[in-house]
Amino acid sequence: MRKTVYWIEGDGIGPDVWKAARPVIDAAVAKTYGDARSIEWKELLAGEKAYAATGEYLPEATMQALRGAELAIKGPLGTPVGKGFRSLNVTLRQTLDLYACIRPIRYFEGIMSPVKRPDLVDMVVFRENTEDVYAGIEYKAGTPEAKRLIDFLRNELGANVDPESAVGIKPMTARGSKRLVRRAMDFAVAQKRSSLTLVHKGNIMKFTEGGFREWGYEVVRDEFADAAVLEADAGGAAGKVVVKDRIADAMFQEVLIRPDQYSVIATSNLNGDYLSDALAAQVGGLGLAPGVNMSDSLAFFEATHGTAPTIAGQDRANPGSLILCGALMLEHMGWNDAATRIYNAINTTIGNRTVTVDLASQMASATTVGTVAFGELVEKAL
Ligand code: NAD
Repeated sequence: MRKTVYWIEGDGIGPDVWKAARPVIDAAVAKTYGDARSIEWKELLAGEKAYAATGEYLPEATMQALRGAELAIKGPLGTPVGKGFRSLNVTLRQTLDLYACIRPIRYFEGIMSPVKRPDLVDMVVFRENTEDVYAGIEYKAGTPEAKRLIDFLRNELGANVDPESAVGIKPMTARGSKRLVRRAMDFAVAQKRSSLTLVHKGNIMKFTEGGFREWGYEVVRDEFADAAVLEADAGGAAGKVVVKDRIADAMFQEVLIRPDQYSVIATSNLNGDYLSDALAAQVGGLGLAPGVNMSDSLAFFEATHGTAPTIAGQDRANPGSLILCGALMLEHMGWNDAATRIYNAINTTIGNRTVTVDLASQMASATTVGTVAFGELVEKAL
């Protein structure tokens, strides 16, 4: 079986990390499946490389290929200043309707963490990516727009809003919430995860955050009755995904105190933003985490760090995030054995304390290696 994967090199350290990551991904597939499976890599242009070749940062040819693609993976893209773009990443996310942002968070042996048992963290956060206060409907205090909206709220709806307020809108729909929870449940069932937790602030924001909770449970009840069991009925439910919900503030305590009780998390946009960063810090937040943004047709994997311009081209960047993106992609394809090989190899390499400079500076008695050498060590450990 040969699978097509579109890849975007990315700006800054993009070329550096790809040099190290792609051989690892290919080797993991070859070692696991011999000639029976392989990846056909097809490059798409975006960012500076695209601009140099075509005069555009996001050429139509790239967008067209992505619209028809199943799998794509990208290095970091810089934000072109003053070229009419808010951000290439935001443009990609919105144009391709990449509504689910997924971040797995796990601990690698040897990395310094601020907590006592980082090894108990093994969670995957599904964050809704298109709605909530991130929809961009916000008005500065004192502007005519803010005044009109506040007048409407006060006069038409009888809401008690201070006329001097800045105001923002938090739109959340059943459709947006349900498709996110459906994705998270699909994953939890396919990967035989123990639980799924809906994280919300519905005790205060009853119709938006509370709606998310309600719609989430509806999806579970209507579409996953055979595969899931509610927390209250969980006794003797071996093999099923236990579904529960937690209020967001309590969840921040829970992941610190009882991390082993949480596996897959489904949450709204703002909660997900906070929680995935907090969890990344809990396991030694070092930009090692991979990420993926998904639409109904495309899984678009991306290194979660930026372009790190000050170390670009110096063989100093850590390719771990992109390598782990590759592992996550293999898992998504159902090539789990190849993915496990990569996770274990990264564990071994970091455990041996042979790491790039960013990790070395945070570990006791580590040996610093370059980007390519780190990739080679991971490949050897596969
Ligand atoms: P950054 O992630 O590029 O850098 C933050 C710090 O982390 C720097 O000290 C950098 O050297 C270091 N760092 C980052 N990745 C590293 C790696 N793989 N190995 C070793 N060290 C690493 O964040 P920034 O400086 O805020 O952003 C720089 C550019 O990247 C901006 O144009 C920004 O828009 C873009 N950006 C892109 C993405 C993306 O494409 N997903 C994400 C974040 C930032």
